[in-house]
Amino acid sequence: MTYTAEIIAVGTELLLGGTVNSDAQDVSRLLSELGINVFFHTVVGDNPERMKQAVEIAKGRADIIITTGGLGPTFDDVTKQTLAEVFGKKLIFNEDVAEKIRSFFTMRLPNMDMPENNLRQAELPEGCTIFENAVGTAPGCAFESDGKHILMLPGPPRECREMLKNCVDPYLRKLSDAQIHSHNIHIIGLGESAVEDKLRPLMESLNNPTLAPYAKDGEVMLRLTAKAKSKELAEELMAPILEKVKDTLGDLIYGIDTDSLENTVVSLLREKGYTLAIAESCTGGLLSKRLTDIPGVSEVYIGSVVAYSEQSKTELLSIERDIISIHGEVSEEVAITMAKGVRKRLGATIGIGITGIAGPESDKSGKEPGTVFIALSTKDTVACRAPKLFFDRERIRISATNNALDMIRRLLTDLPLE
Ligand code: ATP
Repeated sequence: MTYTAEIIAVGTELLLGGTVNSDAQDVSRLLSELGINVFFHTVVGDNPERMKQAVEIAKGRADIIITTGGLGPTFDDVTKQTLAEVFGKKLIFNEDVAEKIRSFFTMRLPNMDMPENNLRQAELPEGCTIFENAVGTAPGCAFESDGKHILMLPGPPRECREMLKNCVDPYLRKLSDAQIHSHNIHIIGLGESAVEDKLRPLMESLNNPTLAPYAKDGEVMLRLTAKAKSKELAEELMAPILEKVKDTLGDLIYGIDTDSLENTVVSLLREKGYTLAIAESCTGGLLSKRLTDIPGVSEVYIGSVVAYSEQSKTELLSIERDIISIHGEVSEEVAITMAKGVRKRLGATIGIGITGIAGPESDKSGKEPGTVFIALSTKDTVACRAPKLFFDRERIRISATNNALDMIRRLLTDLPLE
């Protein structure tokens, strides 16, 4: 059976625009991984009457209703009461849960007396499955009634996310005897719509497995998901589709089920015994930050120079003033000289130089935001990319670092760099 679900986010702050409904995004993501169709997202304020209406509507059109928020101890937290009423359940005080709430306060907030109304959080619908809250006080819960599954999760995103992972995922997997397995295919160098264009006929022809694209931070990920009685059978269903995707996208795929582009690059550097030095201008250290987020990276990453002004480029990287005055600070020549200079100065196998205009204004010479030069230098190779990058300052900087990482990946896997 394929279940359908509706997510009801409860909270007046969501309606007023002060808070983005990120819980719904997290819940939807998990449900799509589990092969559960989400047909509606609803947002309703902390108002029992309107919440009741929203739940009645969801009851009529979904097998699974998942609420977020309104589980707290205050008078406006009425999710449990409302759902219990709609589905004819009593709320029952649970002493074990109450004890956990008391000890949460003693352990984590020793200087604070627990407000008595916190114990309202220990009142739960009769016969429900309790979802323990690993990072907060409000437990979540789930029950079945009138053939529907009702799940309630706390609003704070960190609490909601932990509960999704630790409690909701296993709970929903048990609803079906089928197992769900997926592969994440990571792509760099092609936008989401271009990826979709290439794969649309394949995506549209699929039912099980399914193939869906997700775009994030200048990258695209395709998730291939199959439902079957066992992992082996799911893998069998996915194998031919995975091959088709590989045939279509070729070396634009930088990894399957890998963590991130920077992790892929660091693994390759380790494998090949190469080291890296970076000179960054418009990215202001972002590439170095992404790499140094990885524990143990010092084995392959020597260091970087953030040379933002013309003076720092000439003094720290020994770039001749003539090169800058003839070609401009944002030019292929300067990017290449930065890459060569930092490689030599820090004694690395690979040097990277990035210079560009992150915007929002053009530079003095009229070069537009998004004009970026990314150069790579080794003892035997010099290459420079000049992609035209778009959107805002942040996106331009992320894309510039993605390009640099992609060039290193390509160098280390013997692919053409540009
Ligand atoms: P608490 O115990 O903190 O009261 P709760 O389950 O009652 O938890 P709410 O009171 O509804 O949750 O929300 C607490 C905070 O969590 C909100 O102020 C808001 O910042 C955040 N939050 C609530 N719902 C969402 C949501 N759908 N997406 C993102 N953040 C949310």
